[in-house]
Amino acid sequence: MNSTTDAGDGTRAVRAGLPEPVKYEPTLPGPVFAAHFHLPGEPTGPYTYGRDTNPTWTHLERAIGELEAPGESVETVVFASGMAAISAVLFSRLRAGDTVVLPGDGYQALPLIAEQLDAYGIEVRTAPTGGDAQLSVLRGARLLWIESPSNPGLDVCDIRRLVDAAHAEGALVAVDNTLATPLGQRPLELGADFSVASDTKGMTGHGDILLGHVTCRDASLAADVRRWRKVAGAIPGPMEAWLAHRSLATIQLRIERQCVNALALAQALGGRGEVTGLRYPGLPTDPSYPLATRQMRRYGGVVSFTLPDRGHAERFLDALRLVDDATSFGGVRSSAERRGRWGGDAVPEGFIRLSAGVEDTDDLVADVLRALDGAAR
Ligand code: PLP
Repeated sequence: MNSTTDAGDGTRAVRAGLPEPVKYEPTLPGPVFAAHFHLPGEPTGPYTYGRDTNPTWTHLERAIGELEAPGESVETVVFASGMAAISAVLFSRLRAGDTVVLPGDGYQALPLIAEQLDAYGIEVRTAPTGGDAQLSVLRGARLLWIESPSNPGLDVCDIRRLVDAAHAEGALVAVDNTLATPLGQRPLELGADFSVASDTKGMTGHGDILLGHVTCRDASLAADVRRWRKVAGAIPGPMEAWLAHRSLATIQLRIERQCVNALALAQALGGRGEVTGLRYPGLPTDPSYPLATRQMRRYGGVVSFTLPDRGHAERFLDALRLVDDATSFGGVRSSAERRGRWGGDAVPEGFIRLSAGVEDTDDLVADVLRALDGAAR
């Protein structure tokens, strides 16, 4: 069904992936709990064994595909987590002797992946996201991995420019679109071969499930990713897949409010003397603003900034009432953390990543300003 091809994001989201209506059946069919399916005779047809396929995944995969590339024929493969989706692309494509280019400032588990790739004889090159620095290390690469905006530094690179350069080198391109979600940016439209995400974040948005996906146009690339899922067994449970589909119906409402809140917070933080290194791609004074404005559909709900030191940052987090001190981002409840507590990210001790939820904007801004006042003592 694609009557929503030309529709707005909200209209598309509430209908995405729904099967044709059947009298007396629910609009969104419930989760199918099945390890195996009745399968007399030849083992053909869509549903055979629960590690290969499940009707609840099928609906979710169609829904995500409609958001990633409205009106286009794309294939989506859902996974048990974002890391499972990332691993599927990297490990289904790369062989010993290949070269892969990763962002040097991306999600903090990428260095763990790099160690694994290295152990398999794959050369890993890294360069920062900002300034399109990955361009300088593309020569002879098999795969380019982009994360824009990057997590947690919120730098943005020119995806189309990097894609063109990578394709000229014969490399495929994957974009980790976790931070933006397809409502914020459509990597396939920008030329990428894979749009990959942790759907644990803004896609599902309630902080209650882990999930990931890979979407691509090319059926043979998708088949390899699907085969990897079967081999690795990194499959989502039907309940998680169903909850994810249910959550997608509200994605436009959630993301829209998160973006409004993030911009309001960035503007408020910009007026504070104790705040340095403020980043939000939607802030007109941000270095990424011109590029983000050309490339993105929405700027996302994450803001980052630095307080004078670790103690100051901890007092701030402690004083917040409407913002949970928690990792992750993209949820309906605002959250923030001192990113340096994990080690691994090259950030100052007072660096805060703040994820705007869907609270009323005035309440949220007031809470953050009050916590900043309290932390300044
Ligand atoms: N990609 C990015 C940008 C992330 O921030 C995360 C998690 O924080 C992941 C991938 C991994 O996702 P998951 O935790 O669902 O495995």
